Amino acid sequence: MGSNKKKQHQLARMFRRQNGHCAWCNKKMLPPGSHKGKGRVPPMLCTFDHFDDRHSDERGKHAGEYRNVAACWTCNNRRNAMQEANVPKEVLWEKSGSPPPGVRDDLRRHQREI
Ligand SMILES: [Zn+2]
Repeated sequence: MGSNKKKQHQLARMFRRQNGHCAWCNKKMLPPGSHKGKGRVPPMLCTFDHFDDRHSDERGKHAGEYRNVAACWTCNNRRNAMQEANVPKEVLWEKSGSPPPGVRDDLRRHQREI
């Protein structure tokens, strides 16, 4: 990845822009960087989240960093779980970067149609 520093910087800015409140549940978050990677992640830790999920029709309609929001760890993970549950298998395969043999061409065709 390599852009982690930039991302952290952006997250800190979003945290300030949202006055430290989570974009989804609006609760006060712990500032980014409060967790140093040891032990359990605090549920209210400020994390990087996407305004539009990867497969949403809204994707690409928001400019620049407004596609990203600061969200608490709890909401971030809840959203991920919800998305995984609703995502068709084909999309998960695509996400994994290694679709089963034979599916690959279908995916490419699908992408061109979008
Ligand atoms: Zn939240």
